Amino acid sequence: MSDSFDLIVIGAGPAGYVAAIRASQLGMKAAVIEREQKLGGTCLRVGCIPSKALLETTELYEQSQKHFAERGLIANDVTFDIPKMMSHKDGVVAQLDGGIQGLLRKHKIERLLGHGCLLGQGKVEVTGDSGKQQITGKHILIATGSVSSSFPGMEPDGDRIGTSTEALSWPDVPGHLVVIGAGVIGLELGTVWRRLGSKVTVLEFLPRILPGTDSQLAKEAQKILQNQGMEFRLNTKVQKVTSDGTACRVEVEGNEPIDCDRVLIAVGRRPCTGGLGLDIAGVNCDKRGFIQINSSYQTTAAGVYAIGDVIGGAMLAHKAEEEGIACVEKIATGHGHVNYGAIPGVIYTAPEIASVGETEDALKERGHNYKVGIFTFAANGRARAAGHMEGFVKIIADAETDRILGVHIIGASAGELIAEAAVAMEFGASSEDLARTCHAHPTLAEAIKEAAMAVDKRAIHS
Ligand code: NAD
Repeated sequence: MSDSFDLIVIGAGPAGYVAAIRASQLGMKAAVIEREQKLGGTCLRVGCIPSKALLETTELYEQSQKHFAERGLIANDVTFDIPKMMSHKDGVVAQLDGGIQGLLRKHKIERLLGHGCLLGQGKVEVTGDSGKQQITGKHILIATGSVSSSFPGMEPDGDRIGTSTEALSWPDVPGHLVVIGAGVIGLELGTVWRRLGSKVTVLEFLPRILPGTDSQLAKEAQKILQNQGMEFRLNTKVQKVTSDGTACRVEVEGNEPIDCDRVLIAVGRRPCTGGLGLDIAGVNCDKRGFIQINSSYQTTAAGVYAIGDVIGGAMLAHKAEEEGIACVEKIATGHGHVNYGAIPGVIYTAPEIASVGETEDALKERGHNYKVGIFTFAANGRARAAGHMEGFVKIIADAETDRILGVHIIGASAGELIAEAAVAMEFGASSEDLARTCHAHPTLAEAIKEAAMAVDKRAIHS
């Protein structure tokens, strides 16, 4: 094996492996250091993909329990088998890991199994099971991602008190699950276990759920999730979580403690920078521990770059991928760009919640003049036929220029529908552009066209 490369990437998540592939396409000799056997990072191993496998499976189960009968489908005695559900999920992860391994081979990218640590001056040490090895790179890219956060007094114990990682593999359904944090992870994984029969209580420090999401959408989401059986306690500060190995107790400020079977800690994620040799290499972090970069993803150390969760911003796999491509293109060609104003975000509850661009709250706070068009799925033919009438599309456009500033969707397939909005925003479309684009009938996407028409108060079906 060669020990000198054009680009060494540390971390094979969506940021790192995508960057390595793009580097190879641009003629660079690339290596990827990853300490886990599986590639794909948190997203593939213990995040986006396994959670979606469980969300898809449990949604089928919920449909069979609550909605089949009203449509004349008789499916008595539908039950579930957790080990099989988990092995299906693990199988999906294994297939996709195999896919990434194949892509690295196809692009002749060297894969090194071990922990990477910067030694300065282009050198990286890789510590694996078979010992240490040094390699050198003209450019080094840190893409080490993030890990679950917790607070003193609420540390995961790897068993009853878990993070998203454990909650993706619990062997049985907790009778009562307490989720700490009404963010994306809390709502997605809370939904999985609620569907399987858990009583789910979500404790949230803030007076609202899903901070950062358009508040009208978050309110609607809370209403729908409550109707599904999820309990929310807002303005609730958790002080301590303990477990005796079979049950847990959650102590909250100013209220009675809550006894439950399992606890999911979902209070955010922090950058993964431990043991990377940042000090030795001269790579600075900000106050919150994220690696500092400039507009070309260069850190404070010459030749060292960073992308993805480890630099902060939205902790999203697709944002990380975009950064991987832009960073490598900048290195290789001098040009590369990410449009941070058009990065969609999706929460995979049912209904899904998806957004791109500005929230109404942020525009209001800045005193920006805007107009809003809303169209509900209850007035959309396809949504009615499919039995997915909940939610709406909300389009926010500039009051003077009509340029679309933000699109927010809560409803079935919102995660797919938001792509149209992202394309429109990427091309600087106006709401008029969307309103005059012919949308196939009957589709859920017609609700986007109608919401765009509603911006100028001319929606047809409302
Ligand atoms: P989050 O930041 O989305 O939500 C954490 C929530 O915990 C916040 O609402 C916060 O107010 C609350 N909280 C913090 N401390 C608390 C306390 N002591 N008591 C009660 N509540 C408290 O974080 P997350 O849900 O853990 O997700 C982590 C990251 O991963 C996010 O950036 C998220 O976007 C990303 N992620 C994305 C997806 C997706 O795109 N579908 C899925 C999973 C995770």
